[in-house]
Amino acid sequence: MDDLIELIDARKTSLSERVPDVTRRIQEDFAPREAALVARLDRVLADNASRRNKIVKIQALVSEVREAAAAHAACRQGCSACCHQRVMMSQTEADAIGHRIGRTAVQLRSDYVPPALHDFGPATPCPFLVQDACSIYEHRPFVCRNYLSLDTDALLCGFENLALAKAGDPRHTPVPHLDPGPLLAAYRQVSGKDRTGDIRAFFPPAAPA
Ligand code: SF4
Repeated sequence: MDDLIELIDARKTSLSERVPDVTRRIQEDFAPREAALVARLDRVLADNASRRNKIVKIQALVSEVREAAAAHAACRQGCSACCHQRVMMSQTEADAIGHRIGRTAVQLRSDYVPPALHDFGPATPCPFLVQDACSIYEHRPFVCRNYLSLDTDALLCGFENLALAKAGDPRHTPVPHLDPGPLLAAYRQVSGKDRTGDIRAFFPPAAPA
């Protein structure tokens, strides 16, 4: 375990070189498509469509951008540590996902308090995680689409690094991500004053039979 924590701590050094370099390469790769994407995003926001519909279109745009960056990311099929952590979304997005998967999302009450980082770990899988795969992949939330690690492997996504964060240990090393930029701003604009909550509050896991 000590060796693993040393590796996590040491990752700060390699990431300080890697992340700016990878971010620049992703931006260069995406540059020819950027203006078109921004124009499409503007059209989504200006469209006379429902908020749910707009959220679904913004989700699709996030996926498109992240797919362009996938070659530089550590994320791989079957790697599901991040699916045990907090997965926040707005009520509108939960309603949109519920509509598409045939489930009614819970309407969050005014006294709902989102769970804290400390509440998550190996025993808190997302209710849609089935055999280490997302069972609603086509309809997964914005945050899941956006969550792309720019590291070289899943070391920082593991529960050991999460435990360091919970303990306030300075050896904790944050997972490096791309800045969602205008996509997140658009998501927030469409969500408006919605309540936001963890996916487990909107779609509670089924009680054991
Ligand atoms: S919705 Fe899918 S991708 Fe997102 S946390 Fe749940 S299982 Fe993982």
